[in-house]
Amino acid sequence: MLFSITAAFNTVTDISPDMLASLGIRGLILDIDNTLAYHNDPLPAEGVVEWIEQMKENGIRLIIVSNNFYLRVKLFSELVGIDCVRESKKPFQKGYKLAAMRLGLPKRSLAAVGDQIFTDVLGANIFKIKMLYTLPISRKSSRLLRLRQAIEAPFIPKKIYCSGEQRTVDHRLVNAITYKEN
Ligand SMILES: [Mg+2]
Repeated sequence: MLFSITAAFNTVTDISPDMLASLGIRGLILDIDNTLAYHNDPLPAEGVVEWIEQMKENGIRLIIVSNNFYLRVKLFSELVGIDCVRESKKPFQKGYKLAAMRLGLPKRSLAAVGDQIFTDVLGANIFKIKMLYTLPISRKSSRLLRLRQAIEAPFIPKKIYCSGEQRTVDHRLVNAITYKEN
């Protein structure tokens, strides 16, 4: 299965240390855009800084693996205090291999976290690690994002964790959840 998802979440901040412990996950390979921050926003999204602290306090090792350009990834990583692999070319394995090596954890203890089916989900499955899917965060719906989501729709899981509770989400409603107008 190339599109397996271990668990799906409304946002990255819904991922809890307890849940990671129950899945045997000790390290996370994190996506930036539409996962930790709005696309190309230099600042992390609401609650993300606190979530990163919570992960670190619980001994979860973190690394950023992003396909975005060098400076974007470098500046964001420095801001949030997490090591990074730049120009990772997800879904190919090279970036994941480097990340796993830097984290010093075996594959069975690792999970990738991200919002894109054909980079984050596919990449985690090619590298054979667990995949925690987060719905893309976005300030507004763009034509490109709508197109991407239409293509991804059949792969988006219907069971989504929201604030510790699992609920069923009709993927046709994903847009309603994702595109909260600010
Ligand atoms: Mg992304």
